[in-house]
Amino acid sequence: MLFPREVLPSLLHLTPAWLEARGLKGVILDLDNTLLPYGEEVLPSEYAAWLSALKEAVPIYLLSNALPERFARVQRRLGLPGHAPALKPWLGFHKALRALGLPAQEVAVVGDQVFTDILGGNLVGAYTVLVPPLREKEFFYTRFIRMLETPFRKPWGGSP
Ligand SMILES: [Mg+2]
Repeated sequence: MLFPREVLPSLLHLTPAWLEARGLKGVILDLDNTLLPYGEEVLPSEYAAWLSALKEAVPIYLLSNALPERFARVQRRLGLPGHAPALKPWLGFHKALRALGLPAQEVAVVGDQVFTDILGGNLVGAYTVLVPPLREKEFFYTRFIRMLETPFRKPWGGSP
């Protein structure tokens, strides 16, 4: 339950062709440290073209544990559906799947944290994808969780 199906070296590897090759038709995307550096609200410029190509190809749903006000600002800027706080890993994934209108096995759940994104995605039966966190400057708590995650930072069933 804690192992991702795949580990990618960067979010930029998650392309329409990559999704299509795996039969995936939608994406549930984490926000902090996955799409945006922790605490920031503006998409890094190298992600702009990547995101618009992905948006054209498949529906994307943002699922974040961020506070609602900041999330609303970010969401407006990015023009993506989603909700926060999602209380991952336990809540939010079913709502996201309903919004996408896709069965879980056709949806990639993409995030930087094992105990929220990957566990939550695996619990609903989605295709889980772990990406490295964009920034390591985080709360002590998150760093502690990262340390616990270390053994699970490889794909299910072997090496990447
Ligand atoms: Mg995150």
